[in-house]
Order: sequence, then structure tokens, then C-alpha cells
Amino acid sequence: MIIENLHKHNTTIWNTPELKAYKTIKDEITVHNDVLSGHRIILPDVLRDKAIDVAHKGHQGICKTQNLLRSKVWFPNLDGLTEEKIKSCLACQATSSLLIDEYSRYPIVDITSSTNFHNLKTILEKTFTTFGIPEQLKS
Ligand SMILES: [Zn+2]
Repeated sequence: MIIENLHKHNTTIWNTPELKAYKTIKDEITVHNDVLSGHRIILPDVLRDKAIDVAHKGHQGICKTQNLLRSKVWFPNLDGLTEEKIKSCLACQATSSLLIDEYSRYPIVDITSSTNFHNLKTILEKTFTTFGIPEQLKS
């Protein structure tokens, strides 16, 4: 379908199954070499998983991965697809609530019945005994 002609059609064309997902950004769609939505590239279906994988490489968790994607690209259900994929990533889950080496992104996972000080102290002592004492500890 030729995007330039979409703006010439009446508004009912955006309710077709093929274009309904793009209706929310219809006023932002412009054409300049590639198909763009404002300053973002509208990705075709075949590139969406690859884009999520690339944005996910740093294992920054759901929100940061979605923000990175949103700043560069757009595709229908970007947030849902990203969240679905990252929810199953152990490293991302670890960054949100467990211990992780900031330089290597290596997650330390330990099972605990509580996150009270006594349990946390035991886990930290075990981790520091194994990997050494960190220069800085952030929460
Ligand atoms: Zn991850």
C-alpha cells in the first residue's frame, strides 16, 4: 500500500483490520526515504523481534528497554511485545530486585524467605566471600 495515498482517503480506511493498529499514529506518519512516524522508524513485522533483542542486550529491564525502543522505532504493541519477552529473562528480573555486578551485568541470584537485614547480610557476606568486596554498593 502506498502511504502517500493514505492521507487522501477518508478516515474510514484507518478502521480496516490492516491499518487499525496504525490509527493512533496516523497524523504522525510521514514519508521520507523510509516510512517514518514522526522521528521514529515504523518497523515491519519481520524486524520487530530483532529490534527488541538488540534493545534488550544490556538487560536493563522492561521500562528502559521500552524507552530505548520508543525513542527510535514504532510498531503496534511495542510495549506488550517487549514486556512479554523480557518477563522471561532472568537477568532482567535480577536487575530489578536482586544483586548484579554493574560492570559485567552478571546477576547474583539467591533464594531467600525474606529481604530483611539479617537475610540480606548473609547473602551479601556469601557473595563478597566468593567474588570479593565491591568498591561501591548501590541500592
Ligand atoms: Zn534481560
